[in-house]
Amino acid sequence: MSNNNSIMKRVAGMVCSGLLIGITTCIGTAATAQSKTPLPNDPWAPTAINNMPPVASLTNGVWLKGDLHLHSRHSKESSNNPESKIINFCKTVGVDYICITDHDNHVDGDVPNHTWADPEFKSDSVLLLYGAEWTTTRGHGNVFSAHPYDHQRLYFVRDQRDVVIQSVVKELGIHLSANHPMGPKDHFGFSYDMVSSMEVWNSAVWKKNENALLIWDDMLSSGRKITGRGGSDAHHGVPDSPDKATPNSKQATANYVGTPTTWVFATARTREAVVDALTNGRVSVSANPFAPRVEFYADLDQDGKMDMMMGDNTKPTGKPAKFRVQLTGKTVADSTYTVSVVKNGNPFGTFKTTGKNPVIEFTDTPATVGRTYYRVVVEGPSTPYPQVPVSQTLSGNMVGLSNPICFNFDPNF
Ligand SMILES: [Zn+2]
Ligand SMILES: [Zn+2]
Repeated sequence: MSNNNSIMKRVAGMVCSGLLIGITTCIGTAATAQSKTPLPNDPWAPTAINNMPPVASLTNGVWLKGDLHLHSRHSKESSNNPESKIINFCKTVGVDYICITDHDNHVDGDVPNHTWADPEFKSDSVLLLYGAEWTTTRGHGNVFSAHPYDHQRLYFVRDQRDVVIQSVVKELGIHLSANHPMGPKDHFGFSYDMVSSMEVWNSAVWKKNENALLIWDDMLSSGRKITGRGGSDAHHGVPDSPDKATPNSKQATANYVGTPTTWVFATARTREAVVDALTNGRVSVSANPFAPRVEFYADLDQDGKMDMMMGDNTKPTGKPAKFRVQLTGKTVADSTYTVSVVKNGNPFGTFKTTGKNPVIEFTDTPATVGRTYYRVVVEGPSTPYPQVPVSQTLSGNMVGLSNPICFNFDPNF
C-alpha cells in the first residue's frame, strides 16, 4: 500500500473484523468450482490433456525463505529504511532472498537508475531479485526478475488495456504478481491473465487477507494456475537514533522483513531458480522466518513414496491418492495445529495434529475428467519473532498456507 499509515490503520481495523470472519464462513459451501456434468454440446467441456510435463524431482532442490514486497528509501513515504539496513537485517534472521519493490511512480518508472543503481544494492549472501511495485490507478503489482529489465516500458503502459499490458509483460519476460488484491484500497483491478502469482498474504496483519483467498480460489477454479505468495510491504526501519524517529517508526516492530515469509523450493540457490519456483508454485507462506514451513505432498500410487508437491500438476490415475501435510522447522511442543484442506474452493476437511513433528494425511480420488486442486491452511500457536516483536500478535493463529496440488490443469492455459 502506498498509504503511510496503512499498517497501523489495519491494526486498528482488526477490532471490528469479527463481522468479516462470519461472512467468510457462511460463503464456504455456496459455490462449486466446476459443473460436474457438462452438456454434450458444450464446446468447453473438459477433454483429456495430452503432453502434461512430468513432475520435477522432489529432492533435487533447496528450500529458501524470503520476502517479496519491501520498500526502501527510494519509495518516498518510507522512513529509516535504506537498502543496506534491509539487507543486513536479512542476514541476522537468515532470510535467503528478497525483492526490494519500490513504487515505480515515485521515480517516473526509472527503477534501474534508483533502486538497482543504489551502491547498497549488493550482497554476498542474500539473493536480490530485480523488481519494483508497479503502482497504478487500477492497483499495484510487483515484478520479480532474475535479471535487470526495462521497467519503464511497463510503467508507460500502466493505463492501457490489459491486452496491451500483457503483451509488454510477455516481451519483457518478467514475472508479474498481483499485490494486496483484497483492497479495500489499491485492489488489483486488472485481468489475472497477465499475472503469474498473487499476494495472498500481505503484511503481518493476517485477518485482512481472508478475501484474497476468495479471489485466489476463483482464479484457480478458472484454470489459472496462479501461485499464492506473501509480502510484508514494509516501509519503515528502526531509527538509528531516537531523533530520527518518525510517526511511522513503530511499524518497524510490527511489520518488517519476513512478516510473512515466502518459502520456495528452488532447484539451486540462484535468482533464476527463485523466480522459477515462484512461477511453478513450489511455494508456501509462513507467518515469519522462524515459524514452521508448510509442506504439502501427494502419493499417487500409495506406495509410501511421495510423487508430487504443492505447485505440481499431473493427470489423475483414477485411484485414491494419499496426501500429506507436514510442518517442518521449530514447532511448539504439545500444541495442537489445525490443518484446513480446501478442494476446488470448498472446505474438504479439517485435521488436527499434535506433537513435535506435526503431520496429517488424508485420502481422496481426484476426478479423471476436469480440474481438481487441493490447498491447505495451517493454524496453531504463533511463533515468536523477537526482531519484529509486535508481528506475532498481528498474525494471530495463522501459521502458514500452501500452494495447491493440481490435477488436469492445462499447461497451455
Ligand atoms: Zn501497494
Ligand atoms: Zn507496497
